[in-house]
Amino acid sequence: MDPSAFRRHGHELVDWIAEYLEHPERYPVLSRVRPGEIAAALPSEAPEAPEAFGAIMADFERVLVPGLTHWNHPSFLAYFAITGSAPGILADLLSAALNQQAMLWRTSPAATELELVTLGWLRKLIGLPDAFEGVIYDTASIATMHALTAAREAAVADVRTRGLAARADVPALRVYCSEEAHSSVDKAVIAIGLGHDSLRRIAVDDSFRMRADHLQNAIEEDRRAGRLPVAVVATVGTTSTTSVDPVAAIADICGRECVWLHVDAAYGGAAAILPSHAHVLAGADRADSLVVNPHKWLFVPFDLSAFYCRRMDVVRSAFALTPEYLRTDETGAVHNLMDTGVQLGRRFRALKLWMVLRSFGAHAIREHLARHIELARELAAWVDADPDFERLAPVPFSVVCFRWAPRGLGDEETERANERLLHAVNDTGEVFLSHTRVRGRFALRIAIGHLNTRDEHVRGAWNLLRACAARLANASA
Ligand SMILES: *Cc1c(COP(=O)(O)O)cnc(C)c1O
Repeated sequence: MDPSAFRRHGHELVDWIAEYLEHPERYPVLSRVRPGEIAAALPSEAPEAPEAFGAIMADFERVLVPGLTHWNHPSFLAYFAITGSAPGILADLLSAALNQQAMLWRTSPAATELELVTLGWLRKLIGLPDAFEGVIYDTASIATMHALTAAREAAVADVRTRGLAARADVPALRVYCSEEAHSSVDKAVIAIGLGHDSLRRIAVDDSFRMRADHLQNAIEEDRRAGRLPVAVVATVGTTSTTSVDPVAAIADICGRECVWLHVDAAYGGAAAILPSHAHVLAGADRADSLVVNPHKWLFVPFDLSAFYCRRMDVVRSAFALTPEYLRTDETGAVHNLMDTGVQLGRRFRALKLWMVLRSFGAHAIREHLARHIELARELAAWVDADPDFERLAPVPFSVVCFRWAPRGLGDEETERANERLLHAVNDTGEVFLSHTRVRGRFALRIAIGHLNTRDEHVRGAWNLLRACAARLANASA
């Protein structure tokens, strides 16, 4: 592609993106393709001869667009709604053009230092003290895996060299999290060789928060049984109900027991930039590490996860390793980002965090988050006021869990009715909702988090739910 063709296609592509962002209602939120349909529409071999960019774009629109589920649609209310905002999109375009690979400071001084600076900005916005050093990973799952690897490094002598297998001097290790914690904690203990059995899930209270007294008892019981507690993962904004574990009480226990405390604030941590919600990170200043995902509720395009650690030296002693070809004169004087994790190469993710934080400004970000929280409160009030619906959890942030509970239906029938209702609503293509289980019950879940989600989208989803419910009730009557 020569420079003039690049200009032409580039302009067309930016126009396409602008149209896309402006008219999301053009697409069903949840893709309607069937499994295998996209793959079947594509050739099984790469082309031998070059193809025109226009032809490639035409196939993109014809074949791929129908297979997109539109995360950037304001009626995407499933999982945790996210936003690829315009400044972040432009930053990613620029990042691709620059193709920075910031393994060493010298391979991209700007990417290395901007990462430090932007993570410092974000750290202050969410109210974490200076003692926390930050690094950007792709996802919270990877951040949590690094946190638990650091915990293992701190707890087990020579684990980097000798590993864990066939060691008579290492007892069975334990990691704790609540029953509501994210599955990434399970994957992390599996990946780092602790084994899935090492993870002990602690019971939660009526509001789905970890019971600190149960945690204390579990640690004592494990020590008596000869096990070694190495880490606790507390969650600020659990994935089902967005409950907030009592981080301060958990930090007290971890301090006394010399156990690494990692705070998974992937979603909820963003809310700490609001004075009204700063308390959700109370006690996190005493954690060893914390993860918050700007790609979740801070309008940064996927992916960008911010990992903060008070003991980054432990992360480095777990991972730093410099082969001869990467030795430089600066070693010692600078931080090389390759030392803070598994991956060697790393892209220029800080650019989009920088452009988003600057383009919005903290004030506007706070207003958007406050608006989402307010919309969720309104929705919760509508659910509470409707005798045919039942709310299943408190609403600390911008997620509402509830179910359709028509009178006269038994438990089994209510379960199936909610599953049918969810399918009916999603089949309209107007909104996309997901589900969870709350105390064993099937729950509908509405997550408000897209930049452009407004009152009309939430009201539209609620009206659609009630209309579909009425239709299903009539059909079965
Ligand atoms: C979303 C989420 C994760 C996983 O996030 P990824 O960045 O996709 O790995 C982990 N923990 C919690 C609490 C989450 O909400």
